[in-house]
Amino acid sequence: MEIKFERFHLQSDLRSPLEGFETISVPTEVRIDPLTKRRSRIITWGLPSQGKFDFSKMAEESKGCFFCPENVLQKTPQFLKEIVPEGRICIGRAVGFPNLNPVGSYGSVVVLCHEHFLNLNQFTPEIYEAGFSVAIEIIRRTMAFDPDTRYWQISQNFLLPGGSTILHPHLQVIGDPIPTNEMEWLLDASSSYYKRNGTLYWKDLIHIEKGLGKRYITSIGNVHWFVSFAPIGFNEVCGSVEGHGSITTLAKEEIASLAKGIVSTLKYYYERSLNSFNFSIYSISGEAHCQVLIRIISRTPIQPYYLNDYTSFEVLQSELTANIIPEELCREIRPYFP
Ligand SMILES: [Zn+2]
Repeated sequence: MEIKFERFHLQSDLRSPLEGFETISVPTEVRIDPLTKRRSRIITWGLPSQGKFDFSKMAEESKGCFFCPENVLQKTPQFLKEIVPEGRICIGRAVGFPNLNPVGSYGSVVVLCHEHFLNLNQFTPEIYEAGFSVAIEIIRRTMAFDPDTRYWQISQNFLLPGGSTILHPHLQVIGDPIPTNEMEWLLDASSSYYKRNGTLYWKDLIHIEKGLGKRYITSIGNVHWFVSFAPIGFNEVCGSVEGHGSITTLAKEEIASLAKGIVSTLKYYYERSLNSFNFSIYSISGEAHCQVLIRIISRTPIQPYYLNDYTSFEVLQSELTANIIPEELCREIRPYFP
């Protein structure tokens, strides 16, 4: 095993007006991801929370959207007859259909619930179980139609800071015959790890993290939940699904485990007055060295005079920042998991 947790300690000294112009030291940590070798910058200060945002006006003004129950079966697109003869896929309250504004070969939307707006503490495991079941059915049927489409993401962009203009909770299901950058980095690094060590990176990582106990949250069935050593976003929580490279082979229990972990993470975010988030599930078929992975990150909460959390560091220096020490996040979030 060659998993190394490398870090650099940086320090900035200055005379602070908040301390009568005494000299203070502000530490920053740069961590290197053990798999991808990508650097993350952990900042140790954060702007104070502005409390919980009241969404009632925003929800009231935008309700009756295309995803609301009275419209979703009338005004949303339908799949090609060759892929989904019935047009849309409905399981429970979740409804899946093609995205009118796709960004690749196969882009779909899964509307998660009848409610036009949910606070982060109102999402339930059942909502995600139904949503994922629809997403997986879309992927299975699309792959039966076009087997070259091996690279899939199931993602959620929640609220404007997460990149969604529509409040109504929904998932994005996107498949292509070529990987995204992130998928390619994960795939290349996992394959070369396997070539060098003869073992699966994700299995080794979980073994080490479990032993260290500082970033490992818990396992729910076959899904291992942990905080990354070198996060690529704020309050990043990851889940790795043992024994599966593609989400299409997950059993009911594994889908339920993913749903529970997401809901636990969102409850923690809510308690911290966060309200916007993104997650992505990475699913690649036909690759033995990758495991299904989910990454959940919070975004700067929506509030008056919203502050974007992607600065020149992220967009132009490709160096991602996190504002909580991963081991601290792990300690804080553990009680929220079953
Ligand atoms: Zn709606």
